Amino acid sequence: MSDCIFCKIISGEIPSKKLYEDDLCYAFYDIAPQSDVHFLVVPKEHISCAKEINGGNSSVISHIFEVIARLASELKLDSYRIINNCGEGAGQTVMHLHFHVLSGKNLGERLI
Ligand code: AMP
Repeated sequence: MSDCIFCKIISGEIPSKKLYEDDLCYAFYDIAPQSDVHFLVVPKEHISCAKEINGGNSSVISHIFEVIARLASELKLDSYRIINNCGEGAGQTVMHLHFHVLSGKNLGERLI
């Protein structure tokens, strides 16, 4: 999608600190980390938000969770939190589906 910042990151038009890439997804460090480790994993296909997940595109979600598990293992993350904000009211600021992966000392038990 031409005006999507994450599509531009995936295409290389906007630089990013890339962690991982394959045919289906792209992982990169968040530009404004909210914990010791904070990266994002996004589908390469432009899906605006979780509301758009359906039978035709949902296989990328399980793939992304496999990638997260692999990256967390490689980064030796003992525990971590996976967050998806869906919709502006839930704090979604970039309208390209993405999963935050956060790890570090500042993660408490509360979700909000
Ligand atoms: P959300 O608020 O759930 O939509 O999350 C969007 C995330 O994208 C925020 O944590 C931002 O810090 C992050 N972000 C925005 N622009 C960039 C960028 N150019 N590179 C890396 N992360 C970004």
